[in-house]
Amino acid sequence: MGEGRIKELKDRDFALSRSKYCIFCGGSTPADSAEHYPPKAVFTERRFPEGYVFPACQQCNAGTRHQDKVIAFLSRMEPSDDPKLSDELAKLFNSLANERPKDIRQLFSLSGVEKKKAAEKIQYKIPAGTLYRDLPIVKVPDWIDETVNIFIQKLTKALHFHHTGLTFPATGLIESRWYTNANHLAGQIPEQLFNIPTETPILVRAKVDLSNQFNYRYGISEDSTFAMYSVFFRYAFCFTSILVFDPSIWNNGKTTTHGSAPESR
Ligand SMILES: [Zn+2]
Repeated sequence: MGEGRIKELKDRDFALSRSKYCIFCGGSTPADSAEHYPPKAVFTERRFPEGYVFPACQQCNAGTRHQDKVIAFLSRMEPSDDPKLSDELAKLFNSLANERPKDIRQLFSLSGVEKKKAAEKIQYKIPAGTLYRDLPIVKVPDWIDETVNIFIQKLTKALHFHHTGLTFPATGLIESRWYTNANHLAGQIPEQLFNIPTETPILVRAKVDLSNQFNYRYGISEDSTFAMYSVFFRYAFCFTSILVFDPSIWNNGKTTTHGSAPESR
């Protein structure tokens, strides 16, 4: 048996020892495989953090394969001189362009004028001798938004299980917001998101620190049914999600921009 196959079986045993049921679809479907989350492809040379392997059913495991590849691509969209990163980015790009050429073209559909506008908005200083149309600014079409949201739901469930051992119920609610590095440059990410005094896990693989690729902060209520996760992928994108087992405690509130208590009647 090859080393890869042994590792695969080990991961499967570990995942199934954590729960007999899939943790992604409510906890009543028997699990039959190991799902690495965040997906292995997100990490440079597929070196994923130790322990982030979860029990999944076939449908949940295979059902997000395409989304996972898009996320692996997005998570590498950062300014970097690392040849490994650009090499992996190019490979993912080619593979996605083959699978969904139209969608990928949409990402790069901004004209020079549109890029100039976007660059000005984020006060990006264009390097001398660079043309606006050559700037690495991409459009975020609706399908990317949907893809990222599916990913956030799945990763939030995985992280919550990782830290509490509890499976997110099918009746629960996960709300989220995500930001790109363009949002960061434009000062649109709330500063607090980086400063919340929450738990920060140590992410390693064979003693290699992976936190520059993936890191997060989290806070969990005492009964483990309410939690907040802030997750960062390289200098590419980040998200915050709130997980609630019982949505009725959440939906009674009103959305407010001032943080005031809902008015009583
Ligand atoms: Zn499932």
